[in-house]
Amino acid sequence: MALFSKGSKSYSIFYLKCPRCHEGEMFETGSWSFVKSFDMLERCPKCNLNYFPEPGYYYGAMFISYVWSGWFCLLFVALFHWVLGYSQTVAFGSLILFLVVNFVYIFRISRLMWININVKYDPRAIEKAHLH
Ligand SMILES: [Zn+2]
Repeated sequence: MALFSKGSKSYSIFYLKCPRCHEGEMFETGSWSFVKSFDMLERCPKCNLNYFPEPGYYYGAMFISYVWSGWFCLLFVALFHWVLGYSQTVAFGSLILFLVVNFVYIFRISRLMWININVKYDPRAIEKAHLH
């Protein structure tokens, strides 16, 4: 699917890859390992992009996360309740369970969305990094 192929922002976001080169990881561990869940690398291991251009850079990510997770929760409950016909209790219970299980991943993709607003994909980023 083109939407999730390398070079698109959604690729970087959902695969948690560096927004510039789409090769380097941004986090040290897997999203469901629950070890060092919130520790980001400081720089891209492939193209040397600084993931922390300024202090407090990721405050904006919390806002992004608030907006999209709000919509996500509404749609999730609506789907369970109205489309699949579950009771409200089950719909909300499933939502909470889903959020608990995916909490780290949600935190991470919010940061990825944020940094992707500011950093563009550059297919030659790794090459350029090695020239310096
Ligand atoms: Zn990179």
